[in-house]
Amino acid sequence: KFFLYYGDITDGLTITQLIRKIKPTEIYNLAAQSHVAVSFELPEYTMVTNALGTLKILEAIKNINPKIKFYQAGTSEMFGLSPPPQSENTPFSPISPYAVSKLSAHWMTITYREAYGLYACNGILFNHESPIRGETFVTQKIIKGLINIKKNKQKKIFLGNLYAKRDWGHAKDYVQVMWKMLQQNKPKDYVVATGTQYTVKDFINLATKKLNMPIIWKGKKLKEKAYYNNKPIIEIDSRYFRPSEVDSLKGNSKKIKKDLNWKPKYNIHTLIEDMIKKIK
Ligand code: GDP
Repeated sequence: KFFLYYGDITDGLTITQLIRKIKPTEIYNLAAQSHVAVSFELPEYTMVTNALGTLKILEAIKNINPKIKFYQAGTSEMFGLSPPPQSENTPFSPISPYAVSKLSAHWMTITYREAYGLYACNGILFNHESPIRGETFVTQKIIKGLINIKKNKQKKIFLGNLYAKRDWGHAKDYVQVMWKMLQQNKPKDYVVATGTQYTVKDFINLATKKLNMPIIWKGKKLKEKAYYNNKPIIEIDSRYFRPSEVDSLKGNSKKIKKDLNWKPKYNIHTLIEDMIKKIK
């Protein structure tokens, strides 16, 4: 009962034709240029895909069948410079083309809900990871890199800012709650997060412990390195620093806990263990 169709979020005609053909009752818009660093390299593409792409689906729903329920994948990056803990009431302060494009999609979703009465929800999801996370995102880059180093398939991992703080959850928990959001009487927007925060360096320390790879940190700032078996395995490469960076994300997801009785099953430890187990 699972059918795949080709389409492209930047191609409004195809989106419209697909919605006419498939006659969906729910649409989950996860289509995006979703990498923050890439959005600085490709700002126009990011905006066209993430902001206009969302508008194309909303327009198609409005014109074809306004009863179709719509989920928009928002992101904690939209909070940007606003200090944690971030909730539905925190002001947005985006500082990357990615965050600006997603915030445009966020407000367009609200606009179509208010203007045309669509059942349209924004999930404001904090970082969510899994064993199938893309390799250019930091968690997967670290786990895969460490496993490769242990197997002598790779010598080093080059990273950027080790001190950014993130609220990392498991994608499995988050996907379930996307569905729950569309099963309510009224459409609402929700923050989805674990409420815990770790630095990139904490993530590395936890992963190396679980992989039984004792490391020692030496040096400061741009010269900081992690050593394993007396060899440097993690080094800083300034190429991975972003022109502007969100320093600290930690979500307050009380609203979704109360309304939808949602609590994540995974924590940072079980998330890392799952990634290691499936990738090994
Ligand atoms: P994001 O929070 O959506 O940007 O998810 P990422 O996994 O791409 O990045 C998480 C954090 O790790 C950000 O603060 C990055 O600056 C930081 N980071 C440090 N080194 C790297 C790296 O080599 N790659 C990526 N993707 N992020 C890195």
